Amino acid sequence: MECYAGVLWTEDPFRGYVCIEDGRVVRIGHGDPPPGAHKSRFIVPPVVDSHTHVGDAGLDLGGARYTLEELVAPPDGLKHRYLRSAPREKLVEDMRGYCTALKASGSCRAMDFREGGIDGVRMLREACPDAVILGRPVSPEFDPCEIEAILREADGIGISSISDMPMAYIESVADAVHREGGMLALHVSERVREDIDAVLSLQPDFIVHMCEATDPDLRKVADAGIPVSVCVRSNLYFGRVPPLARMEAAGVETMVGTDNAMLFPPDIMPEIDAFAELCGRQGCSGDMVARASVRARKLLRESMPLGVSVGDAAAAVPGETVTVIGKTS
Ligand SMILES: [Zn+2]
Repeated sequence: MECYAGVLWTEDPFRGYVCIEDGRVVRIGHGDPPPGAHKSRFIVPPVVDSHTHVGDAGLDLGGARYTLEELVAPPDGLKHRYLRSAPREKLVEDMRGYCTALKASGSCRAMDFREGGIDGVRMLREACPDAVILGRPVSPEFDPCEIEAILREADGIGISSISDMPMAYIESVADAVHREGGMLALHVSERVREDIDAVLSLQPDFIVHMCEATDPDLRKVADAGIPVSVCVRSNLYFGRVPPLARMEAAGVETMVGTDNAMLFPPDIMPEIDAFAELCGRQGCSGDMVARASVRARKLLRESMPLGVSVGDAAAAVPGETVTVIGKTS
């Protein structure tokens, strides 16, 4: 029997422990754990990785440093050239490997911004059948047939940003997504501040980054009830700093995302540790990281509380900040 102790992040969090034996929960208790328990700050259900670009998993940067523009700016950033030139089979195989490893690390699903139009969506569906896929149109101008085709096979649309595409195009996409009941998301204020009123007029389900957002921007996002996917390691790699404490003060709900698959190995735990570390440095409340670790489940209407009872089949993935208890696949 292995026991895991910390604050159990249920609807009503409490300090306690969960014990697992032969793949089943055999004990859940309050207070001090049995001797030898693994200790984390929080015990949480499997984490939905709220922002990935699984497609670039096979792009080896060879330790080189790149700016945000050099690496990911559409249409000719290094990753986009890679996605255009890599053989389909390799892309699918690398995506499959990435998703499998991500799940082993304590994440149950990835919410992916999948480049490459309908073909891109199909590759990811083949590689990671249960991923939440937000496809990206490739037509130079709004094409309702393309959006319709993507929405038939994807869960929604993920737009690069309002700086990368004409606003009228994005508005037409947003209207189509809302009409079809899909999910809409986009990167916002990652490198430069973008017009938050224009972003909110699109009624996105969630947005990503907000590194360069002002306090009034953050308050507007909080008032609109739109969660923000925060990708701490990716932002720091590109010299950006997500303003976690200001987000918390503004009432923004945050989620944890790992962002570009080419930057780091597929592991949600160091992402959560980095979030916790930055949170500590900025002076946000201690439980912001636990809330961020479970928030994406609410977006997907999956159960928010720890969700295990004695007798349930469950695995444990222990980590420093959080230990994941539950089913990841
Ligand atoms: Zn992204």
